[in-house]
Amino acid sequence: MVVLGAGFGGLRAVQRLRRADVDVTLVDRHNYHTFMPLLYEVASAGLSANDIAQPIRAILRGGPNVEFVVGAARAVDCADRTATTTAGAIAFDYLVIAIGTVTNSFGIEGVDHYATGLKSIQDADTVRNGVLRNFERAAVEPDAAERARLMTMVVVGGGPTGVELAGALAELKHHVLKRDFPQLDVSAARVILIEATDRLLSAFPRRLQERARAQLVDLGVEVRLSSPVERLEEGEVHLPGETIAASNIAWVAGTAGAPLAIDPAPPRSRDGRIAVSGDLSVPGAPRVFAIGDIAYLPDAHGRPHPMLAQVALQQGELVAENIARDIEGRPRRTFKYRDRGVMATVGRRRAVAHVFGMQVSGLLAWVLWLVVHLLAIVSLRNRAAVLLNWTWNYARYDRANRLLTDDAVGGTREPQ
Ligand SMILES: Cc1cc2nc3c(=O)[nH]c(=O)nc-3n(C[C@H](O)[C@H](O)[C@H](O)COP(=O)(O)OP(=O)(O)OC[C@H]3O[C@@H](n4cnc5c(N)ncnc54)[C@H](O)[C@@H]3O)c2cc1C
Repeated sequence: MVVLGAGFGGLRAVQRLRRADVDVTLVDRHNYHTFMPLLYEVASAGLSANDIAQPIRAILRGGPNVEFVVGAARAVDCADRTATTTAGAIAFDYLVIAIGTVTNSFGIEGVDHYATGLKSIQDADTVRNGVLRNFERAAVEPDAAERARLMTMVVVGGGPTGVELAGALAELKHHVLKRDFPQLDVSAARVILIEATDRLLSAFPRRLQERARAQLVDLGVEVRLSSPVERLEEGEVHLPGETIAASNIAWVAGTAGAPLAIDPAPPRSRDGRIAVSGDLSVPGAPRVFAIGDIAYLPDAHGRPHPMLAQVALQQGELVAENIARDIEGRPRRTFKYRDRGVMATVGRRRAVAHVFGMQVSGLLAWVLWLVVHLLAIVSLRNRAAVLLNWTWNYARYDRANRLLTDDAVGGTREPQ
């Protein structure tokens, strides 16, 4: 059996099959598993990459039937039962596709060039380095307008990631950059959250959408609703009737299924996700499954399951069970999502949560968010590191991971 992708879904499937009577090959383009929900913390200097990622070989240690390969999957031939990867062709009896999604620019001009997504550790490092580098530049910039541009941070996309990133950048500004750059008027720095529709957090109840917006405004974030980005140019965000001069642009407005050529081509959703059957198999290829964000499966009301870690984890469990059932000659089960709710944090003591049918915001939601995310982190070491960092940051009003790591200060590279 071959599993493509060691994210939440792929890893859970492998863990469930660890001691089963199957040989598993897990393939990922990285040698580490990323805890995506805390990427925004890396982007805003609250945590380091090592706190939220863990080597896959360390996670799999002790599983005698699992082999791990670093490689990017490129193509799948369902009839030949072969997956083509950058590490070579791998034959399979069963295949689980769990490669997630990529940033979707929706074809809007300039997004690919002038904005950074938030889908990987590299993206998070790029955002963090960009913000820190531009403040360093602002500190020596004589021109007031250019200084203002260098201190303007734009986040496009009002979903949970956009809300969390905008809130964290505002806290970075208030609590840390203000102290780091006494020579700058940091109160003039701007964090702008732009959303094309008329609301933030579309998956949340209306009252919590309003609460999140109020919490962001309270933190000094400029929230622009009903503002579809028309195009990006170098240092400029173009909205209908307005141009914002900004040096840091994060694009978290949407995702699309990660590219993978599959023969025969399965049905796909408009955003390129693989439409799967109720047992999570790809129509026409009963031994090929897709799970997690890359899988498109409507629920009983015809709405697609949300792209959440819980969905990926539960689908990872079911796919492992269905493969085991196949081997034992038992019928497969269909996917039923056990909805545990949704939550988003805005900053210190600020969050919204819709859990167990209850709508909570403020301190209680924030504590809930902290506990749930801490417990969900895969390794004990990372859990301890995150807890230590959060405690330090909370007590000291700090975001301690502020090393500029891209060697590009001043726009020139020193010879090594
Ligand atoms: C910034 C951010 C914040 C989020 N916050 C939350 C949250 O608070 N709560 C929540 O429930 N969900 C959250 N999500 C969504 C959640 O992370 C996803 O639903 C979940 O990660 C999906 O799991 P997955 O296994 O399908 O894919 P992923 O976790 O994305 O894993 C995909 C894996 O496939 C690998 N891969 C990709 N392409 C290839 C290839 N061609 N070949 C080999 N390997 C490949 C990647 O390296 C990765 O390891 C967040 C997502 C993001 C981006």
